Amino acid sequence: MKECLSKVQDFQFSPYLLKNCTIGTSFSDAIVKPVECVTDKNGNLRNPEDIPEDMISSYISYRVNFKDLFADGFRMLSDSESLGRIYQLAPLFHFLQKKDYHEKCLRKALQEHRDRKKFTESQISMLLAIHLLSQLVFPSYDPVLTDTSIPLPYIMSNDVPDKVVICPCGCGRTVFYGNTGIGTTALWYGNPDILVFPNGDVCGISGPPVNQISECDEFVEAEEQIVEVERELSSLRQSKSIGQFSAQAITFSYYQASIQQQNSSNSGSLVSLIPTIAISEKGFDVYMYDSVNEIFFRNCRDPLPLWNEQLPTNHNATINISSVFILWMLINHLTLKPAVTPAHVSLFGGSSSLGIDKEQIHEIKRTVTMSKHFPVPDIQEKINLTKKKTV
Ligand SMILES: [Zn+2]
Repeated sequence: MKECLSKVQDFQFSPYLLKNCTIGTSFSDAIVKPVECVTDKNGNLRNPEDIPEDMISSYISYRVNFKDLFADGFRMLSDSESLGRIYQLAPLFHFLQKKDYHEKCLRKALQEHRDRKKFTESQISMLLAIHLLSQLVFPSYDPVLTDTSIPLPYIMSNDVPDKVVICPCGCGRTVFYGNTGIGTTALWYGNPDILVFPNGDVCGISGPPVNQISECDEFVEAEEQIVEVERELSSLRQSKSIGQFSAQAITFSYYQASIQQQNSSNSGSLVSLIPTIAISEKGFDVYMYDSVNEIFFRNCRDPLPLWNEQLPTNHNATINISSVFILWMLINHLTLKPAVTPAHVSLFGGSSSLGIDKEQIHEIKRTVTMSKHFPVPDIQEKINLTKKKTV
């Protein structure tokens, strides 16, 4: 375990304020624009867009470490007594033992995709769900599993295009589909690509929206290579993707808060800082929303890498162990209990400025659910939010 922990590379989050949010839509239509906050010399958070360009250098950008947000988790993992109680470690160790096999399946399939354009984006999400994400939760997935009483480790959304029955890599594993619908018309709603179920909990994961990719593919063939490179770098960071992931992250956080409140009598032990993962074949972004303290974080630099070497050029590329460990912690967040510190609350509390009042929060918590259908709200009923001042 110590060896594992020593491989985890810390990374940083920025607090964001959420501009021009319009709620009441699907995730894919969500209008959310996160803007990285800066602070003045008195510690007041400001929107950098409201600051004259010649003044911006006197403002500070705050950063928060992953290891600080998951401080409780790291403490539990470095203490031999509590370590014994974290049975969620078993699938992680099982994955690490089988890493070479899963790595080979992913690498082969992703290289074929690049060489021959064999797979669609949603099939790449399936590969990642089968050979990486679902491997990090109980029950450990066995291709010969026939006992239907064992809960599924993950489901792919019924809505993904290009459904296939068997894993696209050719390993013979069945792909599990289901309804991933989650949310409420009082906030946002929709179907994330993948839901992973760590011990009955839920973690939402999405890839880049498929329609954006097809727009890129319309470029002429001579420019194809340039388009490919740009697509890899930016597929998780296009403004429409960011809006969708942000809406999902906030909705998930309220869903988790609501479920925990229903299942627990002790409100002091609730985990209010909830992650959502946005993943592509190359890497992933981490969105975290704290619904109690109204703080919105995302990793501030490039997406975290899934691979140590460049795919597809390197035919022996290996999976980044630090990233696997981070994904495991994010997926099993209700066990590892990420949280903001009192110092973070005094610095960033309320900074997301989502602009919903107590009544709306009550309505969101009352109605947020997993469902096949959400009533489409009348456009007149959509609530245009005005941003609160952050000074
Ligand atoms: Zn496979």
